[in-house]
Amino acid sequence: PLGADWAVDWVRRSAATVAEHRVELITLDREIGDGDHGENLDRGFGAVLGKLDSVAPDATPGDVLKLVATTLISTVGGAAGPLYGTAYLRAATSVGSEAELDSAAVAKLLEAARDGIVARGKAESGDKTMIDAWTPAVEAAAAEAGRGASPAEVLAAAADAAAAGAEATEPLVARKGRASYLGERSRGHRDPGAQSSAYLLRAAADAAA
Ligand code: ADP
Ligand code: MG
Ligand code: MG
Repeated sequence: PLGADWAVDWVRRSAATVAEHRVELITLDREIGDGDHGENLDRGFGAVLGKLDSVAPDATPGDVLKLVATTLISTVGGAAGPLYGTAYLRAATSVGSEAELDSAAVAKLLEAARDGIVARGKAESGDKTMIDAWTPAVEAAAAEAGRGASPAEVLAAAADAAAAGAEATEPLVARKGRASYLGERSRGHRDPGAQSSAYLLRAAADAAA
């Protein structure tokens, strides 16, 4: 099972992957948005990284997820700040005060995060948003957990599905967020939030491996 050490490592790997792909995410967002997505997330996860020292030795995964949520909400801004903030907040609520997360809890955490993004942004599958990475990830995670896979396998399946989902946003026309202002011209570009979601879920899987 996964404990707070996994959650902390997820944060570290998230900050690293967002920094590594900062320019790529900026470029994707420049094509169909305002070009700040990589910058916003890099600032946000950098801020979370700076707060990891304040995590208590007896912290739970939920405590770490809550720290991520509150920090992202106060530092990221734009559309993605409140959306990711809500995702991590719902994930934190989902795991409660459990010290260790089994496969079912991990699958449930991802579902709660996705449901938070939907509650906040009202996007449906196919709207060319981060939901198009999250929903396949949630479905793959539930299937893996259902067949008795380990938490690491659940997260790996989620990350693979999110990566495929992000790629599959390319032919879509955006119906939510800034990219929707472009209408047909949003076709042929990958959604930046779907791509960043795929990176964050890969970080979660790598931390569990
Ligand atoms: P902004 O558009 O305010 O500059 P960002 O560039 O940080 O915000 O984030 C843009 C991303 O947010 C998009 O690529 C998309 O994935 C996501 N997004 C925007 N609106 C929504 C929504 N209503 N529901 C889900 N995701 C959304
Ligand atoms: Mg933007
Ligand atoms: Mg913006």
